[in-house]
Amino acid sequence: MDKILVTRSSMPAYEEYISEIKELWDSHWLTNMGVKHKQLQKELKEYLGVEGIDLLTNGHMALELSLQALQMEGEVITTPFTFASTTHAIVRNGLKPVFCDIDPVDFTIDVSKIEGLITEKTCAIVPVHVYGNICNVEEIERIAKKHNLKVIYDAAHAFGIEYKGKGIGSFGDVSCFSFHATKVFNTIEGGAVCFKDEAFGRALYGLKNFGIRGTEIVDSVGANAKMNEFCAAMGICNLRHIEEEIAKREVVYKRYVERLQGVAGLQMNPVQKDVKPNYSYFPIVIDEKIFGIDRNGLFDRLAESGIGARKYFYPLANAFDCYKAEYHASETPIALGISECVLTLPMYADLSLEQVDMICDCITKKY
Ligand SMILES: *Cc1c(COP(=O)(O)O)cnc(C)c1O
Repeated sequence: MDKILVTRSSMPAYEEYISEIKELWDSHWLTNMGVKHKQLQKELKEYLGVEGIDLLTNGHMALELSLQALQMEGEVITTPFTFASTTHAIVRNGLKPVFCDIDPVDFTIDVSKIEGLITEKTCAIVPVHVYGNICNVEEIERIAKKHNLKVIYDAAHAFGIEYKGKGIGSFGDVSCFSFHATKVFNTIEGGAVCFKDEAFGRALYGLKNFGIRGTEIVDSVGANAKMNEFCAAMGICNLRHIEEEIAKREVVYKRYVERLQGVAGLQMNPVQKDVKPNYSYFPIVIDEKIFGIDRNGLFDRLAESGIGARKYFYPLANAFDCYKAEYHASETPIALGISECVLTLPMYADLSLEQVDMICDCITKKY
């Protein structure tokens, strides 16, 4: 029997991609903001419902260059319950991450604990829409306004999500998406920054293109983070099928919920109020005392049946080898507890209901 991996990249039909890239052989224009880049940028702006958007090589550079474009200095309040990229983007800008604990239900930053961490050095908040669970954007906006802080959302998990009818990328000063192969929407590798302030957009554009402003003008110390034409073409194709992609994920999601609801000792994320979700991940939290085995035990049991789950996010960022000298995961006890009990189950559009049933049988079988 074939193994079930935790994720599987969505791809358009081969012919569709080939026909999309055909004109690149006519133009010989492969990168540097070509026609595919421009087209995808325009289509995403509309789809995401945002004022400004720029496309980059990946979600990490989106975060890193956004912080640089905002010319941040000092401390940044963020969550340890995230992918390495979020914390690294902060540290690689010479900024100090200050870790805030998370909400025990949706695992996003606990807004009631943010203000207690603000000092005179705090310049920004970098919250994460974890697994597509959106942060409390209203409360974060209130705190940011009151203390004059920038808000940069890591929206890597949140593609296509709407809150109260508004695109999730339109919240905060900046929202950063990842279009990595494993995400709901992919451009193979890729990312985008959404913003409202045009001056920020200009600064970011400089940073993604060596600071080159004209043929004879270089006005900032930029990097290179331009999305190439082949990646943009993949995005154009995948965007045509995004509604179908999310609808297929919804079917998988509903089957999981149907099968796992009521299983003693398993906690699932509820769909949030006023949110149009994207079903990007399916995390479960295991209470060993009730369920009978712990997270690692369940991970191993699934692996023995050829099912790939993921300990995502474990370890916490504040427990990484590169950060643990300065931080203690015990400072964020809720996040620490969740990171030790959470498992994300296989989730992708083409996962069949038979496969979901197999996974659930494996989870619920009693020894
Ligand atoms: C995927 C991801 C990133 C980084 O995106 P890349 O496109 O892989 O660089 C950042 N933050 C989170 C939460 C992610 O899941």
